[in-house]
Amino acid sequence: MAVHGIDLGTTNSVIARTGSDGRPEILTGMSGEPITPSVVLFASPGEHVVGEGARREALIDPDHVCDLVKRRMGDADWRFVAHGKAWSAPAVSALILRSLVADAGFATGQPPTSAVITVPAYFGDEERRATVLAGAYAQLDVVDVLSEPIAAALAYGFGRLDGLVNLGKSGRGDGAGVVETVLVYDLGGGTFDATVIELADRRISVLAVEGDHQLGGADWDQRIELHLSREFCAANPAAEDPMDDGIGRQVLRSAAERAKHQLSDVLSTEVVVAHDGVTTTVRLTRAALEEMTGPLLRRTIDLTRDCLAEARRRGVEHVDRVLLVGGSSRMPAVARALHREFGYEAELHDPDLAVAKGAALYGEKKELERMVAADLRTRGRLRDGEPLSDASGDDLDTACRRVADAFGVTLTQVRRAIDITVDTVVSRGFGVLAIDAGATRLETSWLVHRNDRLPIRTSRSYGTVRTDQEVIAITVVEQQGQVESSRVEDAKILTVGEITGIPPGYSAGSEIQVTFTMGFDGVLHVTAYHVDAGIPLALTVTTGATLSQAEVARERDQLGRTRRRP
Ligand code: AMP
Repeated sequence: MAVHGIDLGTTNSVIARTGSDGRPEILTGMSGEPITPSVVLFASPGEHVVGEGARREALIDPDHVCDLVKRRMGDADWRFVAHGKAWSAPAVSALILRSLVADAGFATGQPPTSAVITVPAYFGDEERRATVLAGAYAQLDVVDVLSEPIAAALAYGFGRLDGLVNLGKSGRGDGAGVVETVLVYDLGGGTFDATVIELADRRISVLAVEGDHQLGGADWDQRIELHLSREFCAANPAAEDPMDDGIGRQVLRSAAERAKHQLSDVLSTEVVVAHDGVTTTVRLTRAALEEMTGPLLRRTIDLTRDCLAEARRRGVEHVDRVLLVGGSSRMPAVARALHREFGYEAELHDPDLAVAKGAALYGEKKELERMVAADLRTRGRLRDGEPLSDASGDDLDTACRRVADAFGVTLTQVRRAIDITVDTVVSRGFGVLAIDAGATRLETSWLVHRNDRLPIRTSRSYGTVRTDQEVIAITVVEQQGQVESSRVEDAKILTVGEITGIPPGYSAGSEIQVTFTMGFDGVLHVTAYHVDAGIPLALTVTTGATLSQAEVARERDQLGRTRRRP
């Protein structure tokens, strides 16, 4: 299928598409490697390297190497400066995307032009917009941004969804349809998500999401790095601390990550630290690693517990399966902790590739849906703007058959794409700043709450504060912490807009209606309306990650001036 699936990961990225049999396949470039490290080396003003080559060169040229850029997505002020040029997080991500596109083109002969890109479930509005922007810079039409746990659940459950009605054995059900509840524990290189998902008859529903996008394998590496540096300094008091030197630090980081990987298989390993002309061998055991990183693992368990509590509030009494995704979930301590804390037998589920495969399946679904809808519209069986569900069963059957014939896919594939629905929830609350009823202080008024089901359309009315008020400022905010707080300092301001030019003659308390809408992509749209004066305001979100055509053109131009070194 032409819509590819891209897992744009913190440490690694993967691109996939579905084959003619409807199964997802991973596409590889000349290296033959399914995984591309999300690392960019700015080798010279006009040349960059993406992937393993950049990761290797990081050891000798750390100042020009950018990694973990996903953690910067949504931070409008952040820039990576190399050879006098400043790169935003979406621009660096675009270089990674372009590399994946080139690899896919190498594999299939046709570089993709559209994709579904995955994001952590816990990504907020700005980070999602930044991801769409990265796609635009890379000249990719981003058909949708999809939450990583949903993608993982799709890869796991796509084949099962058809069978679930008759599954009987595992899962709960009352004969009308069997429901399987899945906890996805996703610990990647830089982010953690816990998600409870329900697989029912052709329906995937996200019931609860928790996470931390500043927590992942890289934090484990840092703890080991620190330990190695301490051991090295203790053994060589006169030598320079490798942490104080750019190259020494990179070397230490890769040694730390290598040791971590080894300790997933063996109980003890040795790390050679060579710096400042001296060499020390540090012995590291799995037990010591688990002790020094205990608080990190505990945080994932606490977030998982919160997620399960939220799912319970939504009627989930039992989890049938626990899927481990993300490379860091390979650490034996993860499955052990989930067993100890909750009694679960967790299964590793294609931890590196499941997300890209799920994104490819979702891309296929989107594309087939679009083709079926286009077929119905062309034949006058569906009006513009009407959803597919408005078409009659017979019309839908005929359109599915025609699309299957025209594109050489099976009818089952098309039907399945149309029938399977994905329901999801919002990962943060959204609101506006308003003066409280006693007219004493500014506080946050929440319109959208965490774990509300998407799509969302919600309105609330506010009143003007003064008679003859000419201007009304609307400040849209996003929840920062785990809980909703009314304190203005606890919220992140997303955008500020104004309704201006209100004529005199309206008393204090005149109605201002604010409406928030959010689709499955998790991107927020806000409108506000002075009801009596009839003056609307559609808020353009003025975050740093907003799509502005001029900015896209400028960034594409900058991207065009750097060539990928293979
Ligand atoms: P992902 O973002 O899903 O590609 O995961 C990448 C993270 O998984 C990195 O932090 C890797 O160090 C980590 N990882 C990969 N393999 C292993 C392993 N065998 N043991 C521990 N961590 C691993």
